[in-house]
Amino acid sequence: MSSLAQPQGVRRLAVCAISVALAFSGVALVGVAAQHYSPGALPLQLPWWVLLLAYFAALQRPIVYELNQHARITTLTQLPLAIGLVFLDPHLHLLVSALAAFLYVALRRLPLIKACYNVSLAMAEVGLASAVVSLFGAGLEPGARLWLALLTACVVVDVMTNLVIRLVLNLVGAPQQGKHLGVTVATEVATSAVFSSLGVLAVATIWTDAAIIVVIAALGSGLALAFGQHRRVAQQVLQQSQLQQFMKGLGPVDLDDPASLEVLEHVRVLLYAERLELAVLTDDSWRRVSTSQGTASLGEVAVPPLALELLDGAVVSPDDYMSTPLVGSLDLVGILTVRDRLGNVRKFGMRDLRLLEVVAAELAKALERGQLQRALQLAATTDPLTNLPNLNETSRLLDELLAQHPSGVVVAAMAVDSFREVNDTLGHQVGDELLCEVARRLLGGYPGACVGRIGGGRFAVALPSSLTGSDPGLFGLRIRSEVEGGAQLSAVGTHIRLSVGCVRAPDHGTDGATLIRRAETAMYSARHSNGGPVTWEPAYEIEGQRRLAVVMALREALSSGAIGVAFQPKVSAHSGEVTGVEALARWTHPALGAVTPAEFVPLAEAAGLMGPLTTTVLSQALTACHGWQRRGGRIGVAVNVSADTILDPSFVTEVAALLASINLAPDLLTLELTEGVVVHDAELAVTRMTEMRALGVKISVDDFGTGYSSLTYLKGLPVDEVKIDKGFVDDLTTDAADRAVVRAVVEIAHALGLRVVAEGVEHHDQDVLLAQLGVDEVQGYLHAKPMPAFDMGQWLRRREETSRRQEIPQC
Ligand code: C2E
Ligand code: CA
Ligand code: CA
Repeated sequence: MSSLAQPQGVRRLAVCAISVALAFSGVALVGVAAQHYSPGALPLQLPWWVLLLAYFAALQRPIVYELNQHARITTLTQLPLAIGLVFLDPHLHLLVSALAAFLYVALRRLPLIKACYNVSLAMAEVGLASAVVSLFGAGLEPGARLWLALLTACVVVDVMTNLVIRLVLNLVGAPQQGKHLGVTVATEVATSAVFSSLGVLAVATIWTDAAIIVVIAALGSGLALAFGQHRRVAQQVLQQSQLQQFMKGLGPVDLDDPASLEVLEHVRVLLYAERLELAVLTDDSWRRVSTSQGTASLGEVAVPPLALELLDGAVVSPDDYMSTPLVGSLDLVGILTVRDRLGNVRKFGMRDLRLLEVVAAELAKALERGQLQRALQLAATTDPLTNLPNLNETSRLLDELLAQHPSGVVVAAMAVDSFREVNDTLGHQVGDELLCEVARRLLGGYPGACVGRIGGGRFAVALPSSLTGSDPGLFGLRIRSEVEGGAQLSAVGTHIRLSVGCVRAPDHGTDGATLIRRAETAMYSARHSNGGPVTWEPAYEIEGQRRLAVVMALREALSSGAIGVAFQPKVSAHSGEVTGVEALARWTHPALGAVTPAEFVPLAEAAGLMGPLTTTVLSQALTACHGWQRRGGRIGVAVNVSADTILDPSFVTEVAALLASINLAPDLLTLELTEGVVVHDAELAVTRMTEMRALGVKISVDDFGTGYSSLTYLKGLPVDEVKIDKGFVDDLTTDAADRAVVRAVVEIAHALGLRVVAEGVEHHDQDVLLAQLGVDEVQGYLHAKPMPAFDMGQWLRRREETSRRQEIPQC
């Protein structure tokens, strides 16, 4: 694109100024030249109208030839010019030439500015030619001096004309090639010399015999006709090659891409127009881009003004514009309009219209491709539910933010804790609404921030630390206070809770992906500390790597059957009789060593592996139980069940099927649920527990006293047993408050008909005290550590033999 970028008004003014200057210089030069003209004995007095006709005919039939793959245009005006210089008074000659030009533009109804320019150029040509002839100082006598004067005058005029045309075309927006300018000018001069020689020959011939003018007229017409034919063919070939070049280079066009403005500039030049307007239909609105040389503007329009008249296809208007609908593979995609044909020769015609249609068809396809490309790009970078950037895009945007604020950016990653529960209990639609509500609150609270959805129920927000302060924890707190709270979703009231992890750049990472990953690591930690916010620390990285290794190895262990089960007995606090065993998952990995359930159970929960883990423990526990029963011991087994598993509706069926396949009485199985499960998902959990009990399976509330439970809530629960957490047992002998809790739990539980078990009993005095407080059963290292099924069987047999012999429980 040319660097010229004047607004259109300025360019028009410049063309006007050039026209005025040309006209004045024409008149002035003729005035000067006339003083030095010394007409000799002319053989004839040429009537002025003959010359007028000759000029007019020459203008009507321009001659086009090709140079450097560009069409060049010239007229045969050298002929009347040479004749006029010799046989007409210079003033009259000027008038005749101007009149011919005027007739030509008037007949074509060219706009005023083009008319003025053409007429004044004709005047300047006569002025300059007369001046050159007068410079030679010769009288108008036939001879070498005159022939040379005429030849020089015609060539100089041609060179001047071409210069002015080049200048004006550059001004109005059809930049001419500068690359081969030298060759171009040389060829122009040569061509001009040929045509000018014809003019000189004509003068010389007329001098010898005036009647020969008829032959000259015939020669001129013949030449013009032949060139005219050639012109049409040449123009078609030229346009064809330009069009092909354009089509070959045409990729997808997207108005938001600045490169597409260059494509439109190319279209404008190809269609030989001063201005181009493209209106594109996007969704329900029209966007309009207009270009003229070097300038482009983009805007919104209600309906493009020409939409209606284009229903039947492309139109060309006598007001010098053409317009066509752009029809894509399915529908209208836009409207293309070009205005003001470049050049001084003519307005847009049918040939231009056909070219417009061909270009429009290609442009429609390119626009469609652009829209498709944009849609694909949007799908690859945006979360369709919330319209927020997805993980990859958030990380890219964060990279940009870091580049703009290298001194500090704070990033918070957050998980919507209630998302899974809402999804499971109220359905995905409400779950989706919850996420949209969180997105809305984040965008509302932090306009201008980089906000993205980085996974299921997880979001990230990043801001320069100049806006948040340098303490990421404070930023995390603000997010919690702004986003958390009640929300009304599909007429259901719910509560939004977040776990928030934070990082600060550049201290905690210098690229988007690392910062998001680390903020998420901190976020998972925050889940275990009441939502946080937790700020990332380097130690998390090592933990994170270990966690990843554990999850991968666990997946492998579950499919290869490497997870085992240990059993720990529960005994009666009063008789010492064995009342049951608890099954506890055990796993020793060849490289990671013994991994405790405290480490792998939460990871299995996060990785969605609780289903297979529970299944393997449950089937091993039931098989072992069945084995002891066959050897004469009827010992019940308790299996720990996490929240996700108990809430899963298929779990009841699974348990029933397992019991049936092993042929075990359901009352030998107890499921231990932590009280957190029961509190958070009360309604659903109660339904599942009731279904389990209907099977005959018993339910125990594990870790009782650690969570949120109040004693009164036990009342409504379908359970058989509570297990007092080890935390109350540890200091039981020294702490009166713990004793009070145990006493109260026992009282209420007994009132409700529930058994009370105390776990983690390590010392004899704890055992004694628990029995005094009324606890029914005890479990702990004092009686036995968890052991493999085989050892457990032997332990049970030994225990039975001893009790039979001594009738005193042995430890
Ligand atoms: P829990 O259900 O409260 O299990 C009791 C834990 O206390 C067991 O740890 C057991 O080995 C330990 N323990 C028993 N007596 C004593 C004692 O006198 N002193 C001490 N210091 N500890 C004692 P373990 O096996 O490491 O399990 C830890 C937790 O992991 C369990 O707590 C349970 O919540 C979970 N877990 C274990 N196996 C499974 C399983 O198969 N499924 C599920 N969902 N969770 C399991
Ligand atoms: Ca347990
Ligand atoms: Ca427990």
